Amino acid sequence: MALLEIENLSVNYGAIQAVRGLSLTVEEGEVVTLIGANGAGKTTTLRAVSRLMKPLSGTIRFGGRDITRLPADEAVKLGIAQSPEGRQVLARQSIQDNLELGAYTRRGPSVKADMYEMYERFPRLGERRDQLAGTLSGGEQQMLAIARALMSRPKLLLLDEPSLGLAPIIVREIFSIIRDLNAQGTTILLVEQNAKLAMNASHRTYVLEAGQMTFTGDSAQLVNDERVLHAYLGG
Ligand code: ATP
Repeated sequence: MALLEIENLSVNYGAIQAVRGLSLTVEEGEVVTLIGANGAGKTTTLRAVSRLMKPLSGTIRFGGRDITRLPADEAVKLGIAQSPEGRQVLARQSIQDNLELGAYTRRGPSVKADMYEMYERFPRLGERRDQLAGTLSGGEQQMLAIARALMSRPKLLLLDEPSLGLAPIIVREIFSIIRDLNAQGTTILLVEQNAKLAMNASHRTYVLEAGQMTFTGDSAQLVNDERVLHAYLGG
């Protein structure tokens, strides 16, 4: 049984069909990438999984359970966390407050323990724990957005454009964090503009075009696929 199973999903914004009949699976332990041009429906797909968007039709199952109509906070409790596009950290709150927010569905001493674990995993956050999130660099904000999502102890981490607007050296750091998280057992569904980097960091890739899936396969193979290269790598 796949950890995440999306079947025939359609999501609309009014009359705009953002996602049309999309099916995909994410197995436990995998990193799966969604790539596609702007407006292909990648963010909308993630938002449907984290239950921030209501699907028009189709089914989303998580650990075998139908979550298609589950409220978003219940999805967090089940183990789905999203690091959104544009990071969306609370600018006027400290790093520590942002991390606490990520643990809003949890109680007890394990929350503090996890926060210290985040400070170890992301030393730059640890050094600045009382600093307002809005004063952090783009890369630090991205790390905070990921750490905040991890504070809910997700089984499935949804990452939306983690490399967006960051310098190449920071992008490499973020991707090394993604690899480590996966090696330590977190399943990841990743949306990325940087297709090559994302394919190199993932097991499988789905290519979306105008809300529909056009190709899927092992990332190692698709990264050399002429069609994908041509369409998304400018090659
Ligand atoms: P990007 O990389 O630009 O974020 P994407 O693949 O994530 O692209 P989505 O953001 O999922 O694409 O958008 C899919 C379609 O839905 C696009 O046609 C977009 O214009 C439309 N759309 C997205 N958000 C809204 C919204 N809030 N209201 C109306 N239409 C929207």
